Amino acid sequence: MTALTHLECTRCRRSYDRGKPHNLCECGGPLAAQYDLAKVRTSWSREWLANAPSNMWRYAPVLPVSQPSAIVTLGEGMTPLVPARRLAARLGLEQLWIKDEGLNPTGTFKARGLACAVSMAVELGLRALAIPSAGNAGGALAAYAAAAGLEAHVFMPQDVPQANFLECKAYGARVTLVDGLISDCARLVAEGAAAGRWFDVSSLKEPYRVEGKKTLGYELAEQLRWQLPDAILYPTGGGVGLIGMWKAFAEMEELGWIGPRRPKMVAVQAAGCQPVVEAFHRGDPACRYWENAWTVASGLRVPKPLGDFLVLEILRASGGTAIAVSDAELLDAGLRLAAEEGLFLCPEGAACIVALEKLLANGFLSPAERIVIYNTGTGLKYAEAYSTRLPRWAETEPDKLGGLITPR
Ligand SMILES: *Cc1c(COP(=O)(O)O)cnc(C)c1O
Ligand SMILES: [Zn+2]
Repeated sequence: MTALTHLECTRCRRSYDRGKPHNLCECGGPLAAQYDLAKVRTSWSREWLANAPSNMWRYAPVLPVSQPSAIVTLGEGMTPLVPARRLAARLGLEQLWIKDEGLNPTGTFKARGLACAVSMAVELGLRALAIPSAGNAGGALAAYAAAAGLEAHVFMPQDVPQANFLECKAYGARVTLVDGLISDCARLVAEGAAAGRWFDVSSLKEPYRVEGKKTLGYELAEQLRWQLPDAILYPTGGGVGLIGMWKAFAEMEELGWIGPRRPKMVAVQAAGCQPVVEAFHRGDPACRYWENAWTVASGLRVPKPLGDFLVLEILRASGGTAIAVSDAELLDAGLRLAAEEGLFLCPEGAACIVALEKLLANGFLSPAERIVIYNTGTGLKYAEAYSTRLPRWAETEPDKLGGLITPR
């Protein structure tokens, strides 16, 4: 099973034991799981994947769980990498794919991180877990905690999409709605953790969610036959997916599975909450708190990402960039793409379609490049947001095909 050896602080490099629950390092830095990759290299090869399970646990040697019986799975991962042919043709691109994470359990890629975190909670003997969430992470924690028989406490801003509230309640979580932002929710979770009421599974404060998310990178390489694309567009809230993918690329190079070439990593944010875009273009090493953050792309409403310094480093090291788009642009792009490709993206994923058009227009990306867009979730979880851009059927032409008909 796992080749996990220990955890190491991403700031001060201090190391921590693998057999105990951990949150942040004493210095406040996030911890990163370390593996004996030299050993994995001799005992596991990418050809073995032909017989591996068709979910993210196919990469078990580079995931942290040591007891197979501790794995809590609902079938997350191995989502399709869909060639976006009609969109590519419209934009004059040769090779464009959409990695469709909407097909995961609970409808978003948050399932990967929480499958891994909840499995580790089982392995480490934790009983109660709490999470601050913009919506989808709460739903995923609730589902995996239910599957594991653990207690889940979800703290969400009161204006989360209805689907997120509903799914958390349906999965049996204790849900607290907060009149504030995800940062306020995070503070409440931290206080309860300090009081011993639960373990804090905030992203990056809990070291294994990012390990689940890193399978986004392994899968992409495998699905593209170990030839990474030229550019990756990723809807960035906390940026954990970017951090995870970047780690996966480094691990795969150490395993001899890929070479040193890396895609340009592009962080896409919403105009109403763009701390990463601002810090990137100012040349800052970290983000400033984004005041009054608001966007319908709720997964992107993170005013001050904990791993901001790592995200900014990755964007710069990869020759990538950061770009923001407006809510109206991303919702309209989401509806247009659904009719064009048969894929109903979440608003976060739809933001990447707009970003792609802008980066082609300004020359940052060129039509000959191989480009991958991450659609992090399904559009079906965002009924309220998309409804604002579609006329109600009752308001379209009554008694006509394509409108409302009163049968006689
Ligand atoms: C959480 C979330 C994001 C942002 O993910 P990070 O990796 O933390 O940046 C993007 N899209 C959706 C749908 C999300 O739920
Ligand atoms: Zn440290």
